[in-house]
Amino acid sequence: MSARGGAAGPVRVLPPPDGVRGVLLDVDDTLIGTRAAMVRAGRDAGRELWPHADAGLVDRAGERYREDPGGHFRAYTRGEHDFEEMRARRVRDVARWLGQEPGEGDLDRWTTSFDRAFDEALEVFDDVLEALRTCRRLGWRTALLTNSSADYTRRKLELAGLTRAVAELTAGVVTKDTLGIGKPEPSVFHEGCRLMDLPPGQVVYVGDELDVDTCGALAAGLGAAWLRRPGYAREEAHLEHAASHGLHPAGTLTEVIEALAATGAGDDDGFGSDAVSG
Ligand SMILES: [Mg+2]
Repeated sequence: MSARGGAAGPVRVLPPPDGVRGVLLDVDDTLIGTRAAMVRAGRDAGRELWPHADAGLVDRAGERYREDPGGHFRAYTRGEHDFEEMRARRVRDVARWLGQEPGEGDLDRWTTSFDRAFDEALEVFDDVLEALRTCRRLGWRTALLTNSSADYTRRKLELAGLTRAVAELTAGVVTKDTLGIGKPEPSVFHEGCRLMDLPPGQVVYVGDELDVDTCGALAAGLGAAWLRRPGYAREEAHLEHAASHGLHPAGTLTEVIEALAATGAGDDDGFGSDAVSG
């Protein structure tokens, strides 16, 4: 409890108030490099669909798609429309941004081209398997919580080669489909804790989006770490906001786990008491 916004300066993790027993993990850009794969896939799809659009802009079509300035993904996580509609709206936005009028069949063509490139490009970050195993060794339960859909999450985990590790090392996956709504709703964080059979006060959430992940978890009564992998922008305002919670972004999952282990090492109220039971 003492580490929450403590006087010692910003830390890499705000441990849960009652000591860590579980680690709830975001998926996209926490375990797998979704952003990089989307940027490449959107660029490839843009080039294929709109070969006569401004080439410099088309090269950034994937970034535009990922940035989603219309907030269509967030609207999807609020339950305002389904996955297909969310994707259609984002493709229309990219087309208009490129000065193109989206035509009949463009969405299907986008989907085919985008998925092909995305499937090729998606990779698991190289510290993930070791982090899951370390959690197991330390006696911490793990589960996944994502705002993506159940089907798409299953597919992404498969593409990234994580299906078996998730089945063997975690308590399961909560998606936007589980409760019909996504982060930062407190109920979805609590559903992740329920999967691990732990109260929120013994669980830390690790994710890359400061508002829906980090602040959402803290508001739901969990601990939190803000993971920003190398190559991801760290906007000044976000850094300041994180610092107001006493938090520094961590660059790797390994850093988060080490910081968590360090906070737990001094606890005598149960930390490690059930560790390594086999
Ligand atoms: Mg994420």
